[in-house]
Amino acid sequence: MDKRVIVAIDGPAGAGKSTIARRLASRLGYLYIDTGAMYRAVALWALREEIPLDDAPRLEQLALHAVISLDAGSISLNGEDVTTAIRAPEIAGAASRVSAIPAVRRAMVRQQQRLGATASAVMEGRDIGTVVFPGAAVKIYLDADPRVRAQRRLLDLQARGESPSLDEVELDIRQRDERDRTRADSPLMQAPDAIYFDSTGLSAAEVEQGLLRIVRERTSNGKEIQR
Ligand code: C5P
Repeated sequence: MDKRVIVAIDGPAGAGKSTIARRLASRLGYLYIDTGAMYRAVALWALREEIPLDDAPRLEQLALHAVISLDAGSISLNGEDVTTAIRAPEIAGAASRVSAIPAVRRAMVRQQQRLGATASAVMEGRDIGTVVFPGAAVKIYLDADPRVRAQRRLLDLQARGESPSLDEVELDIRQRDERDRTRADSPLMQAPDAIYFDSTGLSAAEVEQGLLRIVRERTSNGKEIQR
């Protein structure tokens, strides 16, 4: 019997997906797969190559040729560690634009499915429960109030030495969410069988506990798959 478990965590920017997915993966002994980082890596390469972010054929070629590897929270692109570079503020918007291109998504989804086929994983993104692993044993849609999400993102940016205003950050994530929700291919949405979890007002430890409980309820002891 196949004992692999996929925990799919989707939701808008700043909902806390990365923090929680990483903690959950470490608690469960699963792989942690940050699919947003993959789109960010393609966007970084595109910006470096000065490829217009609406040039679908060239972006498809980049996505097909990008050698991306994820390892416990770090990411490399074509052999270069780009963990810090992909967190630059301009990369978030660029990732949202390149990720709207169907051929780019196809290339990334294939890689994500390959990664998830090797071991149990906590995979976070926008379309994991709807497109990448529609049969995932556990699906969570993690959300939070937009102002709270902006505050979390601001803290991340301040840790990088950036100092935008809270209003700027909120506008930025609202625009990005709007693009992610309204794109034709794989828009951000809650899968019908996903559990909605609102993290507004909760600490990371509280969210982790809540999600761990859901994983344990949906799988017997968090180790076995349930189909
Ligand atoms: O999660 P993160 O904010 O790093 O993702 C950056 C962008 O990548 C998102 O705004 C979204 O446009 C795109 N993305 C996606 N599908 C995913 C993960 C991320 O379209 N599964």
